Amino acid sequence: MPCFGVNSRVCCEDSVHVSVNLLPAGALVNKKVAVIGGGPGGYAAAFKAADLGLDVTLIDREPNPGGVCLYRGCIPSKALLHVAKLINESRDAAHWGVTFEEPKIDLDKLRGWKDSVVKKLTGGLGQLTKSRDIEYLHGTAAFKDPWKLDVKLNNGKSREVSFDAAIIATGSTPARPGSLALESPRVMDSTGALALEEIPGSLLVVGGGYIGLEMGTVYASLGTKVTVVEMMSGILPGADRDLADVLKRRLDSLFDGILLETSVVEMKEQKNGIKVTFEGDRVEQKTRIFDRVLISVGRRPNSAGLGLDKAGVAQGMRGFIQVNEQCRTSQDHIYAIGDIAGEPMLAHKASHEGFVAAETIAGGKVAFEPNAIPGVVFTDPELAWCGLTENEALTKEIPVKVVRFPWGASGRATTLDRNDGLTKLIIDPETERILGVGICGYGAGEMIAEGVLAVELAALASDLKLSIHPHPTLSETIMEAAELFYGSTTHMHRGKK
Ligand code: NAD
Repeated sequence: MPCFGVNSRVCCEDSVHVSVNLLPAGALVNKKVAVIGGGPGGYAAAFKAADLGLDVTLIDREPNPGGVCLYRGCIPSKALLHVAKLINESRDAAHWGVTFEEPKIDLDKLRGWKDSVVKKLTGGLGQLTKSRDIEYLHGTAAFKDPWKLDVKLNNGKSREVSFDAAIIATGSTPARPGSLALESPRVMDSTGALALEEIPGSLLVVGGGYIGLEMGTVYASLGTKVTVVEMMSGILPGADRDLADVLKRRLDSLFDGILLETSVVEMKEQKNGIKVTFEGDRVEQKTRIFDRVLISVGRRPNSAGLGLDKAGVAQGMRGFIQVNEQCRTSQDHIYAIGDIAGEPMLAHKASHEGFVAAETIAGGKVAFEPNAIPGVVFTDPELAWCGLTENEALTKEIPVKVVRFPWGASGRATTLDRNDGLTKLIIDPETERILGVGICGYGAGEMIAEGVLAVELAALASDLKLSIHPHPTLSETIMEAAELFYGSTTHMHRGKK
């Protein structure tokens, strides 16, 4: 059977899905799996392993599973971004003849609400762990040898855990290079920024990537004057330029400034703030003082202190653990998933790797070979993409036809007063197959799921064009972009020649 490269959780040559156990049931009950780290990689892997009948121990430093994503990442930031969106929309409403008063922010209440979201979700994961009879150890694990872990429990005791298979899912931590290493309560990483201690008058965000732009949006919406400094020539250097330009146009008005091709060479604490020295041809004012600084220049894998050498697990570049398509490390029975196993450092990638590791341990014949791992930056507008990007096609010399549907031609976008969007399809000109989808616009993070399905199911541009999309919705921009591939579309016309 030909393989279309569709996400091959199930290996192509084998039509049996892994949910059919390939090991005898008795063998699974006696097979002990230790999962180190309870983030979206670790808890997804532990839950799947337990559902497949394995005997699972999950170890994490927090009282409940959740990891950075739930405690200090995706979830609290999205709760705050929801509030930011509401504030900005209430301001936009003046255009539509509805004027609200300037919002009054009760910071304690806002922080409390964000914390309650985290508590609800992590508590729920705790319940799900118990109901699956997973042994949950609240502590820190390190390998003693290739078959045993030493767990320092948070209650001061220690436990030895032996296993037949282990899954390392210890995630990552914010990186802090030397020039940005100033220790000061005014200098924050993403965890500090999410703690929302105050609404500073001014904030410098170092790094115009996912975290910088999302947290910059939160603080700017709450009233802080936000400046972003990015060393590359554009924000989100890894993202598609057309899409990043759409986002930048709006951020230029939300932020106080975006300094491109500029680096921070020095930071000094002063009575009145942090004095920052910039370097770069495009920056006019070389030193400035900010009330706070957020460092968001990437993350590094949490591999130190794990005893990987004692387990005989080889490490690759920059502390990442190299894995094969089953997520196996250099030790066949030890797996690594999520941030520690390499880019992209995204929760949904970690969870899917977790499923593959658990299913492989249970005897399934599976592989992690996705064609589309979606990326979403939850700014306003949101920026989302999946599959092949135009830049990648250029670099790898893959012939593609790129179609762009600007949201100025979308009825739904007009009703939302949000014509500042763009939907872009990357299509194989020969086969007409959809290779990549990129969207920057209101709600792009939800819309990209259709793109993922199109790429994974090897949809053709005609499939998207002929599938009836509901009117009036933003999803029509995907259908009309596909129509454009064939020359024209209902709501765009270039005029008669
Ligand atoms: P990032 O890689 O997204 O962005 C870091 C940015 O900092 C880059 O643009 C880089 O060019 C810039 N930079 C690096 N050193 C610099 C310096 N000295 N001065 C100025 N700019 C500098 O990293 P991040 O924003 O810290 O996020 C880390 C990871 O967390 C991301 O890779 C992402 O996978 C994940 N994350 C995802 C989401 C989401 O899915 N919405 C949200 C937050 C974080």
